[in-house]
Amino acid sequence: MLGPRQEAQSALFYDFSIEDHIPSDHVLRAIDGIINLTGVRQHLARFYSSTGRPSIDPELMMRMLLVGYIMGIRSERRLCDEVHLNLAYRWFCKLDLTDAIPDHSTFSKNRHGRFRDSDLLRHVFEAVVAQCIDAGLASGQRYAADASIIAADANRQKSTPKADWDPEGIDPEDAPRAVREYLGTLDDAAFGAASAVVPKFISHSDPASQWTGARGGPAFFAYSTNYLIDTDNAVILDVEPTRSVRQAEVGAVKAMIDRVQKVHDLKPERLIADTAYGSGPMLDWLVEKRGIAPHIPVINKSGRKDGTFERADFTYDGENDLYICPNGKELKKPLRAYQTGTSGANKDETIRYRASKFDCDICPLKQRCCPKEPQRKVTRSIYEASRDVASAFSQTQQYTISCRLRKKAEMSFAHPKCIHGLGRLRLRGPSRDHGSAMTLPAMLVALMTNLSSPQPPKTSKS
Ligand code: SF4
Repeated sequence: MLGPRQEAQSALFYDFSIEDHIPSDHVLRAIDGIINLTGVRQHLARFYSSTGRPSIDPELMMRMLLVGYIMGIRSERRLCDEVHLNLAYRWFCKLDLTDAIPDHSTFSKNRHGRFRDSDLLRHVFEAVVAQCIDAGLASGQRYAADASIIAADANRQKSTPKADWDPEGIDPEDAPRAVREYLGTLDDAAFGAASAVVPKFISHSDPASQWTGARGGPAFFAYSTNYLIDTDNAVILDVEPTRSVRQAEVGAVKAMIDRVQKVHDLKPERLIADTAYGSGPMLDWLVEKRGIAPHIPVINKSGRKDGTFERADFTYDGENDLYICPNGKELKKPLRAYQTGTSGANKDETIRYRASKFDCDICPLKQRCCPKEPQRKVTRSIYEASRDVASAFSQTQQYTISCRLRKKAEMSFAHPKCIHGLGRLRLRGPSRDHGSAMTLPAMLVALMTNLSSPQPPKTSKS
């Protein structure tokens, strides 16, 4: 039987509760049960005037911001529309059916102004991490660090070759905010021109972003998001944005380890990372300065492809500080000249040990050792002791477990990129204060990942 035509009829009275219409398993309901934003008003209080029109509740804007990042809504206008229309978003933002939504310009103004200046995102993020620690989700015993490239919001075509780029010719008064921030961080290796890596092109709209072809396809402008995660439950303990260069990413990991210790009083027993973090200075910082076990592959360029003896064929005598060659002869440090300090190291932070020309001239192994040179030399990094510590760890069963745990860091990047569509930054600018344009989305991604993947406390086998 054909039923009656459905006609829109306005009821005189409604008995309606948004609460009843939000499914019990909705992701926003799960997040609402965890997140505590009660400190937001107090944190922002000093950024509001004591006079004038009452403001929009900052907690409301913070909740809208979370909805945007969790649901992959990149446009502020669209976010306002979606919160207006979607019952679950209204409920999460604590808005009733008839409550007005903030205008997108108010929302945008706060996000670019007070939220950035006040470090609000850092404040909320650290509160969430503290909750995870209190709940036993992060023990702080094992950290994993990694970086992931996020495309910058910069047009590839609007760029200048590095050779033609003259930052001193830019008038800061006329420049957009992202350019002013770039000019303010020129001496910062993480963002500015101080890095040893010279990019091929500089973006006009976001000059701090890095021109990179790291993904193998066409090059593009990007930043790196650096994560420090606790491997128990892949809780992101800290996040730091940098240019997409290795030196900057290594510096970010150091900064994050120190900051987590300062804020949460956590110090790891080991750090798990890939080869990018296996340089001598980084390993030495971990072993000697922080007492952290490096479960990191050591960068080793001493191998040879021409069949001649490698450095591994020479035995180091630590007591006498010399190498013994395969023919039983000694290779000693230079006693004078081109050395920068008492260690005898050159500018590349290596010490060269040389055999005696007399020994090599009459050696039956010369063709396998140094066929094109009068005598053999072997280099040793001034960080070799720490490199040896890392190499020793790489032979252990624990290291095999660490290699598995390292995947958790990669999963933490895949989650926001693949599930929430956050593979591209919406905001520009490099400033390193933790409420900065670049940090803000990175923090929210980490925050949201922590919130949307709550898991029961468990500790990985070790
Ligand atoms: S060539 Fe010199 S360094 Fe090489 S094995 Fe012979 S004596 Fe030793």
